[in-house]
Amino acid sequence: MDTKTNIENICEGVVARNAGEPEFHQAVREVVGSLAPVLEKHPEFVEAKIVERLCEPDRQIMFRVPWQDDEGEVHVNRGFRIEFSNALGPYKGGLRFHSSVYLGIVKFLGFEQVFKNSIMDLGIGGGKGGSDFNPKGRSDTEVMRFCQSFMTELYRHIGENTDVPAGDAGVGPREIGYMFGQYKRITNKYETGTFTGKEVNWGGSPVRFEATGYGCAYFMQEVLGTLDDSFEDKTCLVSGSGNVAIYAIEKIQEEFGGKVVACSDSGGVVYDENGLDLETLKHIKLEEGSRISEYADTHEHARYEDGGNIWEIPCDVALPCATQNELEEDDAEKLIKNGCTAVGEGANMPCTPEAVHAFVDAGVSYAPGKAANAGGVAVSALEMQQNAGRQSWSFEYTDDQLKEIMKNIHERCREAAEEYGTPGNYLNGANIAGFTKVAHALIAQGLT
Ligand code: GLU
Repeated sequence: MDTKTNIENICEGVVARNAGEPEFHQAVREVVGSLAPVLEKHPEFVEAKIVERLCEPDRQIMFRVPWQDDEGEVHVNRGFRIEFSNALGPYKGGLRFHSSVYLGIVKFLGFEQVFKNSIMDLGIGGGKGGSDFNPKGRSDTEVMRFCQSFMTELYRHIGENTDVPAGDAGVGPREIGYMFGQYKRITNKYETGTFTGKEVNWGGSPVRFEATGYGCAYFMQEVLGTLDDSFEDKTCLVSGSGNVAIYAIEKIQEEFGGKVVACSDSGGVVYDENGLDLETLKHIKLEEGSRISEYADTHEHARYEDGGNIWEIPCDVALPCATQNELEEDDAEKLIKNGCTAVGEGANMPCTPEAVHAFVDAGVSYAPGKAANAGGVAVSALEMQQNAGRQSWSFEYTDDQLKEIMKNIHERCREAAEEYGTPGNYLNGANIAGFTKVAHALIAQGLT
């Protein structure tokens, strides 16, 4: 069978076996679409059915999470943990609490995580979990009861050398704290290395909160560097306004001399031609947990557009940092027309496949999430190192390590893209670099 037919059969098989999970199909197609030259060079990967094996998670855990709200009403949510691949180390990946979470979302995120963690080369496998529970608007005690119930089932599946959860959308240090507390109580073990994203004063790493945003900015600075360029004086758009977006904005504006003129939330877009005021943003989003529409209340020249589309604003660099499939083909075309030359995914799979192809075809430097947003999990890996050595590193030291890791990831993607005949194509570079490392490990470890 020729490689193209083989790849198409694999994708069709994934769709048939995983009905109703379009995000997972999309994530698989995105990776497998880069692999033809790898499979041609390595017939042993085809023979050992490495791609087919990687498309089937090692283990899929789904469970009921019952809990009571403050009025005493009982709620039933669904919990997930997809332990996707431990070829390179313990399963590692975040937990997402959001009403959109279902099996297909967790599988797409777990699949991405395998390759993201592989490119980083820090000895961790890939997994993901979460629940359709939405912590927004819930009291602390409700969140605590939910987290305790969630952990009462999940505890038996995790451990510092088995599976190490962290945060993701809707899960921050508060939720990690409640889950760790319940884990400790059930297991009678103070195993800080079982979770990352903890608070700094009891085993967490500095920079974990900033990591994904900083990492994305570091990665894009490297991308621009290969074009003999930098963020200096660039006009940028950053969608979202969570910790990924806010710390990407911070790094771009305060260290790299770029100007971020717009960000967004699910309600709309705020545009400030002078560059966004970070203190105001942090106050609104991180301290008050409010809507970005408030930005325009204190900055008269700024414009807030209810339900607006951020990608219509002209820019040099665009960083989608909100959520999956937020940037579609039309948006990509607008960005290209307006002169955007680089796109870096701070979120997981925020560009649709059609948008990605539009960027690649137009020669825009497109950095996929599994490389550009690896900063979060990179600092998680550093947190695991600190926990294993009972150490606490300084903010500066940890940030330097993060910068170095992002540089290395960039280099591996660049080299893989070049080696397989598509120089400058980070989509192929990331997929190939991530895949080949796992594939070699799977061959070496026998049929598992
Ligand atoms: N949720 C983050 C990601 O998508 C971080 C995962 C982790 O730290 O394990 O990569």
